Amino acid sequence: MLSRREFLKLCLAATATTGLAEILIPVLRQASAQSALPRPPVIWLELGSCTGESVSLDNTRNPNFYQLLTEFLDLRYHWLYNTVQGDGAVRVMLDTVEKEAGKFWLVVEGSVMTAADGRYNHIFMRNGEMVTGLAALREFAPKARYVIAVGDCAAFGGPGAAHPNPGGGKGVWDVITDRVVINVSGCPSHPDWMTGTFSHLLLYGLPELDAYNRPKLFYSRTIHDQCQRRQQFEDGIFAAFPGEGGCLYKVGCKGPVTHADCPSRQWNDYVNWPVKAGTPCIGCASPHFPDGMTPFYNHLPDIRTRSVSVSVRKIGAAFAALGVGAVATHLAAGIFARRIHDHYLDGTKPSDPAPPENLTQVKQELDDLIRQQNALMSEAKQLEAAKPHRRRPKSWLRRLVGFWRTEDKTGKDK
Ligand code: SF4
Ligand code: SF4
Repeated sequence: MLSRREFLKLCLAATATTGLAEILIPVLRQASAQSALPRPPVIWLELGSCTGESVSLDNTRNPNFYQLLTEFLDLRYHWLYNTVQGDGAVRVMLDTVEKEAGKFWLVVEGSVMTAADGRYNHIFMRNGEMVTGLAALREFAPKARYVIAVGDCAAFGGPGAAHPNPGGGKGVWDVITDRVVINVSGCPSHPDWMTGTFSHLLLYGLPELDAYNRPKLFYSRTIHDQCQRRQQFEDGIFAAFPGEGGCLYKVGCKGPVTHADCPSRQWNDYVNWPVKAGTPCIGCASPHFPDGMTPFYNHLPDIRTRSVSVSVRKIGAAFAALGVGAVATHLAAGIFARRIHDHYLDGTKPSDPAPPENLTQVKQELDDLIRQQNALMSEAKQLEAAKPHRRRPKSWLRRLVGFWRTEDKTGKDK
């Protein structure tokens, strides 16, 4: 069997041509043949959701959905994929929770509706009574071996928790706070991100997680760092509309603040991904999606150097809230090169400050960013002051107006 290190390298190296898909199945098969693989019982709860994660998982290729469910996982309950519904299915689920305590995996899709004690979201009947998603989660999670939140709703609240959020939608880790919840975010989560996480759990146990509990395997780098249009960003070539060539920053791309490997992994059977198809990344894998990423087609908070004052605090807060500092460096470089111009619209509204980051680290990042921006601003002011002001030649219209305003009509200005 591959060592964990080799497995990680393979996952990180996976690209459109050598997708994770091609890697996983032989590894899993080999481990299975060596009887090294348990087939863990899995309970898949769907809470406040559009079923997007289930549909996305259905697109998994290798292992394909059938192999995943028959060879590697023992799916005991999933309301969509159950072959039976009603009491029989619920009985299997409850039996699993009791008899396989400490062994079964709890996969959660959808945000946890917490308002009115969870009554916005009932997910099954027990003894003739409706059971809320909130109650089921609280009952099952303490007994599970792993709790895995798939999709942005289960991980961070996602669209189910968007303003005004009457249902009190929250991420699983906001409700289950006394144990690790693995967040496999995305709207939807990529099939590889789900199967890759499941495979790591099967083969090696808990994967290394980032500050938002996402497996670093898939979420360690920004979209911007891997983007095929990155050179155009550096060269200051920007699209004015989605669908055009050029970097999509100006039409709202959130790639600089979104951690995921979409550019190298791609979607729809490794064929394409949004930026390649001409539409900006809307940051669906981010902890602050969607509220912190809207308006989708507005660029990120702007840094303007001429005539308009720059709110360093706002920019710093926005970056901290979005969980990224590195973009400031690129933007700073852009300003020096006059690549980021001064006519952008107002930027994305920053969301509430991001809570889960290590506070010292956030403060440090913010301080660094403010220092950088201050240096940048003074540099920009010096450049501006040093610039000679050329008189613009008069247009024919101004000359005509001037002619009629002169008293002697000689064409000379007064
Ligand atoms: S801003 Fe978006 S389109 Fe431009 S390079 Fe970054 S990720 Fe790619
Ligand atoms: S490119 Fe951005 S919006 Fe699209 S799937 Fe990846 S993270 Fe989500």
